[in-house]
Amino acid sequence: MEDVGWWRVVLRLLKQQCFRPEGEMAARLLLRSAVRAATTCRAAPVPALTRGMAVGGIPTDEEQATGLEKIVMKAAQQGADPYSMLKPKEYAGSKADPHLVPSITTKRIVGCVCEEDNTAVVWFWLHQGDAQRCPSCGSHYKLVPHELPH
Ligand SMILES: [Zn+2]
Repeated sequence: MEDVGWWRVVLRLLKQQCFRPEGEMAARLLLRSAVRAATTCRAAPVPALTRGMAVGGIPTDEEQATGLEKIVMKAAQQGADPYSMLKPKEYAGSKADPHLVPSITTKRIVGCVCEEDNTAVVWFWLHQGDAQRCPSCGSHYKLVPHELPH
C-alpha cells in the first residue's frame, strides 16, 4: 500500500515537471530511478515455504515411523529381529552352542545344510525342549520360543 502512495507522488512530480522543458531531464532521471527502485523491491527475497523446517528441520526416520515400521525399528535398536528379516546369527552347532531356532509354536521344520557345499538339504522337525541333533551331520539345534509383536 505504501508503494501506491509513493508512485502517486512520483507521477505528480513527473506531470509537474514534464510541462517545463528544463524539467524533462529531471523527470526522466526520476522515472528511471523509480523503475530501478520498483525492480529492486520485486527482487527482494520472498520468504520460502519452510513449514517443516520451522520446527527444527526434516524429521528423521525414527520420528516419523509409525505402526509396524516403528515396531521393527525399536526392536532393531535393542538388537532384536521380531520378523526374522535379518541374516540368522551363526552358532557353532555344538552341544554347548546349539543353533537357536526361533518358533512361535512348539515345533518347527529345520533344513540343515550339513556341509558348506552340499546341494541337498536335510529336513527334520525340531521340537520344544532339549537340543536335537541333525540326523545326518549331528549338529545341535534348539527351539527357542519367539513372540511376534502385535
Ligand atoms: Zn546336518
